[in-house]
Amino acid sequence: MNVADSLRVASALERLGYHATPRPHEADVVVLNTCVVRQSAEDKAYGRLHSLRPLKQQRPEMVVNLMGCLVGVKGYDKLKKRFPFVDVFSPPSDPGPLVAYLTQDESRTLEQSETGERFTLMDEGPERAAPLLLPVEERGRLVASHVPVVLGCSHACTFCIIPYRRGVERSRHVGDILTEVRALVEQGVKEITLLGQIVDRYGKDIEDGPNLAALLRVVHEVEGLERIRFLTSHPNWMTDELLDAVAELPKVMPHIEVPVQAGDDEVLENMKRGYTAESYRRLVERIRQRLGGAFPGVSIATDIIVGFPGETQAQFQRTYDLLAELKLDVAHLARYSPRAGTVSERRMPDDVPDEEKWRRFRLLEDLQEGIAAEINARYLGETVEVLFEEQVRGRWKGRTPTNKLVFVESAEDLQGQLRQAQITWSGPWSMQARLLGEARADLTAVAFSQISL
Ligand code: SF4
Repeated sequence: MNVADSLRVASALERLGYHATPRPHEADVVVLNTCVVRQSAEDKAYGRLHSLRPLKQQRPEMVVNLMGCLVGVKGYDKLKKRFPFVDVFSPPSDPGPLVAYLTQDESRTLEQSETGERFTLMDEGPERAAPLLLPVEERGRLVASHVPVVLGCSHACTFCIIPYRRGVERSRHVGDILTEVRALVEQGVKEITLLGQIVDRYGKDIEDGPNLAALLRVVHEVEGLERIRFLTSHPNWMTDELLDAVAELPKVMPHIEVPVQAGDDEVLENMKRGYTAESYRRLVERIRQRLGGAFPGVSIATDIIVGFPGETQAQFQRTYDLLAELKLDVAHLARYSPRAGTVSERRMPDDVPDEEKWRRFRLLEDLQEGIAAEINARYLGETVEVLFEEQVRGRWKGRTPTNKLVFVESAEDLQGQLRQAQITWSGPWSMQARLLGEARADLTAVAFSQISL
């Protein structure tokens, strides 16, 4: 979500005539977009903020903008006192305060035509913004991009800071989403990931609004778009209608991100996740039945937190056993860290020692490494379709429909190409392949279609 938000800020700044530089000491404006989902992310944000202080002292005219979950949606008085050198504070997903600050200061130096665009952006706010124009260095080069479709979250898991920082759930209007997707495709993007903290709740807050299955069907019609993904899903909202849409629509990739967080019912209850280990087990079965099919079938990714308050060895073992049984493609693992203001921080002592959290983390990490290696080994010798995104240290990096990372060596420019490749090596985290056949000619042309809603 932060990557998508940063793109939005870069786009808004370019509309004002700024361009990006990787060197903060040269910048007129520095935007620090922050995440606080874990303590380590928050520490990093404060570290970067402190490192900007001497720069601001040297160049007081430099504008410092602190954005994102560190700021949140409920006021920032304490932050303002602590960091008086910050000029602008912006909540997540909202470039508005920065744009307003810069336009007040610079309105006389800007062209009249740009002024109109600026007011459109400010008046309509982040959820009704003008079509997203990619930053110049991304235009025609960015292959995969994110489009937020649900902002905020109203679920309130006891450990989670996100509802406090990103606010209540708000689904974006389908017309705005389509405008953004079409604009991105026109600028060369081939793959779109629809984002939401609970993306499968898309439309639930709009009376008679479309649901995620309907949204996928509409986005699927965008000509020139090759692939669609969506994340993150909550187990309780993954309907058969949604799974059927994934199965039926060829551009929607067979990859589901659906966090379990724990495999023990009491821990799940303490987290207020709203499901049991057994219902998650049945969900995985249902996903595999409906999307499994022929090789490579569907891939499933999950999230797990170890060391939640009160988690006993026996409870952790149930999480371990569930992961061992379900053999999911990816498990994003985290050690519990209390986030100030959350229910778990206020009411549940953080009583699992740090070294024990690390021990549980490593046990799951080792288990998952073996599972991922076993799943990926099935790809050896198989031919898969890969969408290539960029060159990394001399090799082209791309992804399969199931979101597996594939590297190939090639003298061709593969950026943005969908190519058949044969897997020659597989490991737990990535694969290597050799290219087969020619590039598809129609991929070089990007069309812009009109879709009536
Ligand atoms: S569903 Fe739970 S974990 Fe996910 S964003 Fe909402 S409160 Fe946080």
